[in-house]
Amino acid sequence: MLEIKNLHARIAEDGSEILRGIDLTVNPGEIHAIMGPNGSGKSTLSYILAGKEDYEITEGEILFNGENLLEMEPDERAAAGVFLAFQYPIEIPGVATMEFLKTAINAQRKARGEDALSIPDFMKLVKAKSADLNVTMDMLKRPLNVGFSGGEKKRAEILQMALLEPKLCVLDETDSGLDIDALRIVSEGVNKLRSPDRSMIVITHYQRLLDHIVPDVVHVLSKGKIVKTGGKELALELEKNGYADYTGAAA
Ligand code: ADP
Ligand code: MG
Ligand code: MG
Repeated sequence: MLEIKNLHARIAEDGSEILRGIDLTVNPGEIHAIMGPNGSGKSTLSYILAGKEDYEITEGEILFNGENLLEMEPDERAAAGVFLAFQYPIEIPGVATMEFLKTAINAQRKARGEDALSIPDFMKLVKAKSADLNVTMDMLKRPLNVGFSGGEKKRAEILQMALLEPKLCVLDETDSGLDIDALRIVSEGVNKLRSPDRSMIVITHYQRLLDHIVPDVVHVLSKGKIVKTGGKELALELEKNGYADYTGAAA
């Protein structure tokens, strides 16, 4: 599904190196968690997967189902099935959430050479998926993310993900700012999307999300490198002992 080989990346603007040789292979159906201290490069990695322009790849490659992901435009990546849920979802004033979702799904269908969904088919789909995530009609009518609470933003993201049915989902700190109830709803939404042909990268600073979304593999990212890889028990160990054992930092 996803193969990252010796990825080095720096910030285009000032040339500072953020990723320093990442190797990561995610097979179909697997959930990988990426944990690590603040500033270790987790969001940078997710932005690079999504195709954000602020970064320069200086070495290495990323293959998505055998294709060179770095040569694909962001919209081609989305059409191919890469979905990123951002740590800080953007607000889109003036565009109702419903309208945004319809545009997103039909853009993806168009890129795949499929016809746009009819309004009734879209409505049926969006209503079914919204119910699972406690997204109300009122929310769908409001501009995307504008005045949404933390929990509403994350639920709107997972709704978008559920509609687009991506092959690779990258969730960047989807747990940040969520209370326990919102965390449960979001996690259930994500778990519903688990499937043998869908992979996920779940980025989190805390272990608690991984109680709900149980990963197959856990990686620790520190200073732009994966410094430790283990099973789901690694997350529990990190919760107990912190990152110091792997990052060289003082406890
Ligand atoms: P994490 O998500 O693990 O907290 P980030 O990927 O957000 O880490 O950031 C890694 C480092 O790169 C930080 O020191 C951050 O300040 C810096 N950084 C990331 N993106 C940019 C950018 N576009 N411009 C300037 N600095 C950046
Ligand atoms: Mg951070
Ligand atoms: Mg981050």
